[in-house]
Amino acid sequence: MENDKGLIVVLSGFSGAGKGTIMKHLLQSHPGEYHLSISATTRKKRPGEEEGREYFFKSKEEFQKMIDNNELLEYASFNDKSYGTPKSYVEELIKEGKDVLLEIEVQGALQVKEQYPEALLLFVTPPSAKVLKDRLVGRGTEEPDVIAQRMAISSKESFLMNKYDYLIINDILDDSVNKVHSIIQCEHARTVRNGDSIKKMQEELKEFSKGE
Ligand code: ADP
Ligand code: 5GP
Repeated sequence: MENDKGLIVVLSGFSGAGKGTIMKHLLQSHPGEYHLSISATTRKKRPGEEEGREYFFKSKEEFQKMIDNNELLEYASFNDKSYGTPKSYVEELIKEGKDVLLEIEVQGALQVKEQYPEALLLFVTPPSAKVLKDRLVGRGTEEPDVIAQRMAISSKESFLMNKYDYLIINDILDDSVNKVHSIIQCEHARTVRNGDSIKKMQEELKEFSKGE
């Protein structure tokens, strides 16, 4: 039965769609309710990023060691860099009944779904390709050639959108944050995730009717 277990919530989406922004607001608006998985990556630290906050920054060798030691729940390559989710953190939290958020790209998301079919997969998109480009430019963290590469990756990723459970069209930020929260809460209420509560109620009612 799954109802004692926390949910693995995967949030994917095009680079610049607003995943990071939605996650940040979700964590702030529901303190203590959600837990963010911190990935390992071989990409360079960006200005303002901190070890262990945005990522665990690894050398290629260190990353390979994590793969060899089976320490990653999933991993994938994005723009020639490696990214992966440390397994132990996620497994401990879901065992404790806590919900864990994974902000990862599509290949990794599909690996998670294979291992954990009960994981909830959400895909974030802006309302249009033009808005996506404007957001990437507006963020100002990538050079124009990298932006072009990321737009090309997005075009490929768009063919995997229908593998996800829900689509979040990130137009108005607050609406998107509320939508993600509501979807997670609805997911918890599904009967398939509440087998223990159903069984408990059935047993109680059986006992109760015996005594009547
Ligand atoms: P991602 O994590 O998906 O790459 P970010 O969260 O970094 O994307 O968002 C990309 C840019 O778009 C940022 O400058 C962010 O402030 C902006 N942004 C995110 N969501 C919205 C929104 N709903 N409306 C307008 N701008 C947004
Ligand atoms: P960025 O370099 O912009 O931080 O991230 C690039 C891409 O890698 C984003 O789509 C992000 O969601 C994805 N990503 C971050 N961490 C992981 C991870 O652990 N696994 C996978 N598969 N993708 C990740």
